[in-house]
Amino acid sequence: MPDENYLSIQGVSKQFDSGGNALSAIQDVSFDIPRGAFVSILGPSGCGKSTLFNIIAGLLPPTAGDVRLDDTSIIGKAGQVGYMLQKDLLLPWRTIEDNITLGQTLRGTPRRKARSAAAPLIARCGLAHFEKKKPHQLSGGMRQRAALLRTLLTGKDVLLLDEPFGALDAITRLQLQMTLIDVWQETRKTILFVTHDVEEALLLSDEIIVLTERPGRVRARLSVSLPRPRTPDMLADPEWMQLKAQLMTLLLREVSAS
Ligand code: ADP
Ligand code: MG
Repeated sequence: MPDENYLSIQGVSKQFDSGGNALSAIQDVSFDIPRGAFVSILGPSGCGKSTLFNIIAGLLPPTAGDVRLDDTSIIGKAGQVGYMLQKDLLLPWRTIEDNITLGQTLRGTPRRKARSAAAPLIARCGLAHFEKKKPHQLSGGMRQRAALLRTLLTGKDVLLLDEPFGALDAITRLQLQMTLIDVWQETRKTILFVTHDVEEALLLSDEIIVLTERPGRVRARLSVSLPRPRTPDMLADPEWMQLKAQLMTLLLREVSAS
């Protein structure tokens, strides 16, 4: 099957029934993601980004359209992709390392083996010495790191990350963005990443899909050909600034039109 449309979103719409009135969250969204790409979805708050992710993850049926992975429909099929929700959703009774390795233990890997395999990544994400703690003993930022690691270790080829760094301070955020890119480059996963942060999208993505205000539709698609590794000194690069201005203009037009 062609790698160019490995993950294919085809005419997806979703209407919710909100107290007898139909609320249209996304409308006729179509795009293809090549295998191994890092693609960001950028859009104003409430435009249907999480709704789209829930549909791709097989948790929510669309009102219309299809989602195909490797040319097979995955509508209503949970468990085909790794999914990190906006909320960390760690299991409170499990230690951090047992939360991180949940996917492997669910697949039958012995806990000890799963823990030792995860140890290098745990250290890289600044969670060494926190492995034996429970989620409530960690800060919000630390819990997000653990949730990201768990998602990276799910063993799925496609990962959906819904604003994973939204609540972090600037330094932690930059550190985790770099770790994510390192892991992505090593593992060649296909990543779909939701953000409302233009700079974050530029730092991470091969391509950026801009959605309109609700109901979310595809407003624009921009390829980001900036070389990798991308570093903070690129903030002054003319191509970076031109793309940033273009994205800001698109987003501003969206919110001021509503
Ligand atoms: P985003 O993630 O872009 O901020 P969401 O996908 O969470 O947006 O929500 C899009 C719109 O759909 C919002 O107006 C939200 O209130 C509405 N919505 C989301 N889930 C439901 C639901 N289960 N029932 C009714 N309305 C919903
Ligand atoms: Mg959301």
